[in-house]
Amino acid sequence: MKILVFGPPGSGKGTYASRLSAKLGMPHISTGDLVRDEIKNQTEMGKRINDYSSRGLLVPDNVMCQLLQKRIAQPDCKGGFILDGFPRTIPQAQELEKISTTDLVINLQVPDAVVIERLGARLTCRNCGAIYNERFLKPRTPGRCDKCTGQLYQREDDRPSVIQQRLELYRQQTQPLLEHYASKNQIRNITNNQTDVPP
Ligand SMILES: [Zn+2]
Repeated sequence: MKILVFGPPGSGKGTYASRLSAKLGMPHISTGDLVRDEIKNQTEMGKRINDYSSRGLLVPDNVMCQLLQKRIAQPDCKGGFILDGFPRTIPQAQELEKISTTDLVINLQVPDAVVIERLGARLTCRNCGAIYNERFLKPRTPGRCDKCTGQLYQREDDRPSVIQQRLELYRQQTQPLLEHYASKNQIRNITNNQTDVPP
């Protein structure tokens, strides 16, 4: 079974996908992780990706698909996979269709107020980028990172007015994708509105 997971920022999409992965015994593939691994391992692809981002460009869809193709060719993906973070646009969905079929799209739906509550409590370490949450994942010392003692702060894009804009943008971008997969009868809507799930 090849599953895609969609969800707005702060929907707990990554957490949901990894729980589903454990339950179904299928790998959770996050395109964000794939990109970070290539950069960390300084592969040829990683260098190309770095080159795009240093010029302020997004990773091109075909490059992303090459990474994905390599990953889903691994033996652990034989029985299927759970893909998180891709596709985000119709052209990406079309690229994906060249390398794999899909069976199911899990569309996480979370009320805006819940997202704002979750992300609004998020704190990021200025030094190492570690993420905390004032409510669910408190640092041991208030305002300081457990890992590196760096200063914790609220990112600009975690402010409520900015979160609202991010949610609007997400909906605009995702609507055509939902229609695309709805036409294949692959959408399953799931409400994920518990505030106790960390983002
Ligand atoms: Zn830190």
